[in-house]
Amino acid sequence: MGDNMGKILELKNVTKDYKIGKKAKFRALTDVDLTFEKGELVSILGESGSGKSTLMNLIGGLDSDFSGSIKIEGKDIHKYKEKELDKYRKNKIGFIFQSFNLIQHLSIIDNVAIAMTLSNVTKKERIKRAEEVLIELGLKDHLHKKPNQLSGGQKQRVAIARALMNDPEIIIADEPTGALDSETSNQILKIIEEIAKKGKLIIIVTHSEKVSSISTRVVRISDGRITKDERLKEKYKYISAEEGVSKAKQNLSIFSAMKISLNNMKEKLTRNILVSIGASIGIMSIIIMLSIGQGVENYIIEEMNEKVNPLVIEVNMPSENKEENPMVAMMGEPVYFEEENIEELESLENVKALEKGFSITVPTGKVVYEEKAISTQAIYTISSAIVDSEISHGERPNENGVVISSYIAKNISDDFDSLIGKEIEVTFQYGEKLISEKTTIAAIFEETGIGMNDNIGYIYATYQELEKMLQKYNIDISPSVIYLVSDTEDNASIIKEEVKSLGYSGSMQELMINIFMDMLDVITYVLAAIAGISLFVSSIMILVVLYISVVERTKEIGILKAIGARRKDIKRIFTTEAFLIGVAGGVIGVGFATLLSFVINQIVNNLFGSELVAYVPIYMVFGIAVSVIISIVSGLAPAAKAAKLDPIESLRHE
Ligand code: ADP
Ligand code: MG
Repeated sequence: MGDNMGKILELKNVTKDYKIGKKAKFRALTDVDLTFEKGELVSILGESGSGKSTLMNLIGGLDSDFSGSIKIEGKDIHKYKEKELDKYRKNKIGFIFQSFNLIQHLSIIDNVAIAMTLSNVTKKERIKRAEEVLIELGLKDHLHKKPNQLSGGQKQRVAIARALMNDPEIIIADEPTGALDSETSNQILKIIEEIAKKGKLIIIVTHSEKVSSISTRVVRISDGRITKDERLKEKYKYISAEEGVSKAKQNLSIFSAMKISLNNMKEKLTRNILVSIGASIGIMSIIIMLSIGQGVENYIIEEMNEKVNPLVIEVNMPSENKEENPMVAMMGEPVYFEEENIEELESLENVKALEKGFSITVPTGKVVYEEKAISTQAIYTISSAIVDSEISHGERPNENGVVISSYIAKNISDDFDSLIGKEIEVTFQYGEKLISEKTTIAAIFEETGIGMNDNIGYIYATYQELEKMLQKYNIDISPSVIYLVSDTEDNASIIKEEVKSLGYSGSMQELMINIFMDMLDVITYVLAAIAGISLFVSSIMILVVLYISVVERTKEIGILKAIGARRKDIKRIFTTEAFLIGVAGGVIGVGFATLLSFVINQIVNNLFGSELVAYVPIYMVFGIAVSVIISIVSGLAPAAKAAKLDPIESLRHE
């Protein structure tokens, strides 16, 4: 163990220029040559502005923009990679500042333990070590206070404890007694002397002569030059590193980053809750949008299944304008089927039966039963497309007899059962002719679901009966609609495709649904736009809040960097904060969406007896995921800004 081993720090020709503006520069240090050994307690004495802090920042690895060389244990600091420099600050150097630089929102014990948090040592070990050091410095009763609940001397002892936490070989104290009264100063100097006796290298920057009395060596600096370097006492003997202090190689764990972020967010709780609520609105819109879309789709499918026989395919003749505007086609004159069309459709594979259909609008029609006449608007043909659930009384006729709508039935009698089999007279105008024929009531048709025809009189006759009725008046009809009956649902869809490829049109209901779906698309786009805008706004809001957070915590970032936090660690702390806002926003959004969909469903259910919002659990997961992703993306720029902050400037930040 020669003298060389003790030589821990070596400065040669160190010159530092500060850039002022674009061209000018200010020389703060000129050709500094200094060598430091373990066990020395060195005072750097000089007036204010002489370059002491500048020198300390260089030695501490906070600033590597200088010329000349600083060797740490023989290795030039200029050759250090950023990672190695971080590690140097974390494990080899302990900083003590004039203004203490404690993190205000952390307790005393956490302020000290954080030096080890950055090394990812277990929490138990961290707290144990921090307690030990704090108790040794006489702070046993103050472990759980916050920094602003301590006196100046106590704060400085906390700062010393933090500097000692990782058992560094070098301790740099920049005017540690500058903010303290003389008695407290003496106490602090005594503590520093005790530390020096353990054989560490301590460099104290000061402008007071008193501090030099405890030193083994005094270096005087004036206008950036070393003017005197004298040894006062023998240096202390270096005792090997303290036992049991882990110098783990790992870095800040995600879990610790989360704790630091959470702690800080608690400090600004109202603001963070408000941002999360703001962020939740976009998430809520998305979930509601998806749920309404799903709900309407469910409703249509349900209605279709309930009212449409899935084995029956409705076929219409194509009309020229049907493609462009199905609405016009529905309102316009029907196109009738020719015999050859019917043959073509009947010969299709898998078609079990073909039923003809016809409908007549009869503005002045009426049904007469005994003395009562009930006005009737339409006559339809009955087909297999009508499902049994819609026939409430009686049975669908095979050939003779008609099905009357419940409106007509109501106007004849309250007792629907008694009407079945009764004779009625149907009267209506067809072209020039007035048709008036007697028939019997075979069944009563009652609309299910959201009925649109509940208050309209109409009747269903079989195609054969209608044909016969009109033939009596020399009117021949051809079907305006054809129903193809299949044996299985799978075959039904095959037939449907075939019919379409032959150029026929599908059912009017299908056309209606298509129109409805188009309208729904428009509504969905509007909702999507609203959701998109709210997401965009919340992302900007998160961005702004995180920027504010970075600015507010500039000093904290400086402190963390001084005690060895890597850029990555700083980034991680802010990304975690963004993540937590995202989770909170997502959860609140899901909560709002649940509440809102419940309310909407209650209202719609009362009005229409059906639910509008189909809230699927996967949307919750999706909503939270979107929220987290957006927050993290919004947090990228602020986190990067924080990571890039210059430690020296950050420390100076008030
Ligand atoms: P001390 O700590 O001895 O009071 P400093 O090292 O802080 O002195 O400053 C030395 C000189 O360098 C001073 O004249 C100061 O104005 C100047 N200086 C310090 N920091 C900067 C900077 N960032 N930009 C320009 N000049 C600076
Ligand atoms: Mg200074």
